[in-house]
Amino acid sequence: MSRQKFSTTILGSNSALPANGRRPTAQLLNVNHHYYLIDCGEGTQMQLRRFNLKMQRIKVVFISHLHGDHYYGLPGFLNSLHLLGREAPLKIYSPPGLKEIFILLTKAANGRLGYPIEFIDLDPKSFGKEKREIYSDAELHVEAFLLKHRIPCFGYLFKEQTKELSYLPKEGEKRGVKVADISNLKRGQDIALENGDILDHKLVTSPSLDPRSYAFCTDTLPLDSTSEHVKNSTFLYHEATFLEADRVRSKETYHSTAKQAATVAKNAKVDTLVLGHYSARYKSLEDHLKESKEIFENSVLAVEGDELEFT
Ligand SMILES: [Zn+2]
Repeated sequence: MSRQKFSTTILGSNSALPANGRRPTAQLLNVNHHYYLIDCGEGTQMQLRRFNLKMQRIKVVFISHLHGDHYYGLPGFLNSLHLLGREAPLKIYSPPGLKEIFILLTKAANGRLGYPIEFIDLDPKSFGKEKREIYSDAELHVEAFLLKHRIPCFGYLFKEQTKELSYLPKEGEKRGVKVADISNLKRGQDIALENGDILDHKLVTSPSLDPRSYAFCTDTLPLDSTSEHVKNSTFLYHEATFLEADRVRSKETYHSTAKQAATVAKNAKVDTLVLGHYSARYKSLEDHLKESKEIFENSVLAVEGDELEFT
């Protein structure tokens, strides 16, 4: 059975300072051709245009935390949506503070946008060690949990919605299934046929596949709780700002090394680890990959423009 689209395109892979051809953090999540933006570092709208990704189609924005390299791209992005004639509401999830920033920006420009923005504050105090569902629609549901950085910072877990069973029309026809009963069969219900027999739904449907998930974790010290929160995810994006040789600096700045990211992935038993949020000090990223693979073989580097399919 072919699976629906579920992927992320890397728009920015560096940490605070853009360098070596790499930009600050942003990704575009595609779930069944519905778009969601994860973080919005400076230059995000340029990257969306460069990779031919229609920004008008973005439904929801998820911001990890309010360090500039994760949201300074928002003012330009929001303004461009206005210029492109957007009318549909936009939801933005983030730690508290973003709404106040935008009130000031809009006031200074004496302008208003042609579409409503709903800012949804995630209150760090109310989370503790919990992981909580914050958003869901027909395509996915999203859970948030706290990471450990210098300011409140959230990790997000994006999960496909479990789809209905797929109906096998040939099998149904053979057994005399009426059109009106198909939706019940797809929901896993057995039905009564015209002759009074009960038809087991399994005879005319094929099972839905396990839902896939994508965990996004930046910026943070490595945490055991992260491994628990993202257990068995299909893909895990975990920041790897530094190499082990710079571990002291990493700890001081509340970041992780490639080795630590790999350890989180290993403990979480994810399928694939994506490394990113590289410090500007590293020109080449080969050592990040090498260090990670020593602990967790199925590691890949986040590279701008790459679309990672969660298969
Ligand atoms: Zn950052």
